[in-house]
Amino acid sequence: MMQRVLEKHGVQFYTNHQACGVTWKNKGVEVSLEGGESVNADFLLVATGVKPRTSFLEGSGIKIDDGIVVDSEMRTNISNIFAAGDVASAKGFLTGKNGLNPIFQTLLSRVRLPAAIWPAKRPNTKAGYP
Ligand SMILES: Cc1cc2nc3c(=O)[nH]c(=O)nc-3n(C[C@H](O)[C@H](O)[C@H](O)COP(=O)(O)OP(=O)(O)OC[C@H]3O[C@@H](n4cnc5c(N)ncnc54)[C@H](O)[C@@H]3O)c2cc1C
Repeated sequence: MMQRVLEKHGVQFYTNHQACGVTWKNKGVEVSLEGGESVNADFLLVATGVKPRTSFLEGSGIKIDDGIVVDSEMRTNISNIFAAGDVASAKGFLTGKNGLNPIFQTLLSRVRLPAAIWPAKRPNTKAGYP
């Protein structure tokens, strides 16, 4: 959806392309892509994403995909263990699928949930997704 909107405003997308070189020009930058193509731009913004460190959970029995898999109450597959924050792979509001959502606002809403449920044992509290 975001891609369609931005393309209408002239933004070009090169998904599944690996950048392999950057040349700074007098004005702007040229990024070389694997396969020989190159892209000229006014500036370069690098965003590499995040990869949760979950290796310490290997052998624990806790289910892992991109991150620690949790349900709508931020519970892992082991019912008294919760995960929240960048490491949690929770159901996304837009996609309906589990995945990472590594921004601080998500962290806050997702952390409040187990904090609300666990000590008070209020299982009907629902997660909020920004
Ligand atoms: C450059 C940058 C800019 C960002 N800007 C924004 C923004 O503008 N707005 C926004 O909403 N979000 C932003 N974020 C995202 C936000 O910072 C994260 O969503 C948030 O910090 C996640 O908090 P967390 O506690 O889940 O993970 P973290 O903050 O990563 O904390 C995890 C902690 O666990 C520790 N740790 C790791 N492994 C172990 C282990 N085995 N044992 C003990 N401790 C361990 C780590 O050292 C770390 O201190 C930004 C992130 C980055 C990197």
